[in-house]
Amino acid sequence: MSIGRRIYELVESLYPICRSITGDGVRRTLALLREQIPLDVHEVPSGTAVFDWHVPREWNIRGAHVETLDGERLVDFADHNLHVMGYSVPVDRIVSHDELMRHLHTLPQRPDWIPYRTSYYTEDWGFCTRHRDFERFRYERYRVRIDATLAPGSLSYGELFVPGRTDREFLIFTHVCHPSLGNDNLSGVAVTAFVAKALSSRPNRYGYRFVWAPGTIGSITWLSLNRDRARRIEHGLVAALLGDAGPFHYKQSRRRNADIDRLAASAIASRGGHVLPFEPYGYDERQFCSPGFDLPVGRLTRSPNGAYAEYHTSADDLSFVSPDALERSYDLVLDIVDAAEHDRRYVNLAPHCEPQLGRRGLYRSKGGETLPERELALLWVLNLSDGGHSLLDIAERSQLPFSVLRRASEELVEARLLAVSAGE
Ligand code: ZN
Repeated sequence: MSIGRRIYELVESLYPICRSITGDGVRRTLALLREQIPLDVHEVPSGTAVFDWHVPREWNIRGAHVETLDGERLVDFADHNLHVMGYSVPVDRIVSHDELMRHLHTLPQRPDWIPYRTSYYTEDWGFCTRHRDFERFRYERYRVRIDATLAPGSLSYGELFVPGRTDREFLIFTHVCHPSLGNDNLSGVAVTAFVAKALSSRPNRYGYRFVWAPGTIGSITWLSLNRDRARRIEHGLVAALLGDAGPFHYKQSRRRNADIDRLAASAIASRGGHVLPFEPYGYDERQFCSPGFDLPVGRLTRSPNGAYAEYHTSADDLSFVSPDALERSYDLVLDIVDAAEHDRRYVNLAPHCEPQLGRRGLYRSKGGETLPERELALLWVLNLSDGGHSLLDIAERSQLPFSVLRRASEELVEARLLAVSAGE
């Protein structure tokens, strides 16, 4: 089975679960990930102060509906978990039409889609429904019931550390707080789980720290508990929205020219992707790039948040993500990781004029032919390997994929034309 298909199957298994920023949905999600990778589950008690925030009370929901006084169900949480606004307080009473309308959300422009709404930090309740069902709400009074609890408990997050040869770390953070939505963000959850699995089975230069946590409050909580460890982060990615058909988008860190910004830009250049400048809005990069931390953490998505019609609606379902897109995202993350692992400076051992590559079996082109990428890469690596330029520098200047330059450097080392620079 292809890796894309395996990632997709994990997305499918996670899709029915009703998740939020706290509660059993996140725990069940982490438990399913644990069948793939040995992550640790951390529980941080409600009320814990985390910088300017507090870990909220835990939310769990068992059922919810709106019905007529005759008992006809007009909206039922059992049909789709997006029907209830996330973090709705419990309700069980009869309400007027006007009151219900103040708590009923639809998308008039997209009458067949259910919107995704939450109210984490303001006490409220609400239902979300397809606009085409709106005409069913023609009664004076309704019975509304939300069988939920909002009570002291904890915030759950998952963490897996894959040690490396150095104490420098590469952070990969993914939000796990959305209910039945495919691209946002089961795609990110599943892709990073498989990246973690791949990195766990090989030796690495960096330690890889994977965190699966609720958006905003999860990254704030993690940073609050790991202030010292955060200093070890040399590269970081917030990974989300990785299963749709859109082109890749890399959002730069606050620093704009951190190594991760260059590594990611180089990796997506050959895939027709786009680089977005930093802005203090978006996902959890907002916290990692807050001025007190200013970490080298960028964000990798396919379509960015809010940039596709299905975003935060029931149309972001299992048909909106594909095994092929998931697999390409997985390959891209591993390409960025490989570049971070193998970026180093080399020295050309025969720098006076070009060494004769044909004699060494490295150069096969006939005169006049367009040079294949591989041979062009040999020339670039030889030319710029003066101890001052790293492979990443060469990738940027040559516009060649890092992976091709890396293979060229290995061939040249084998042919004794190149050596790793002293101090690398
Ligand atoms: Zn979202």
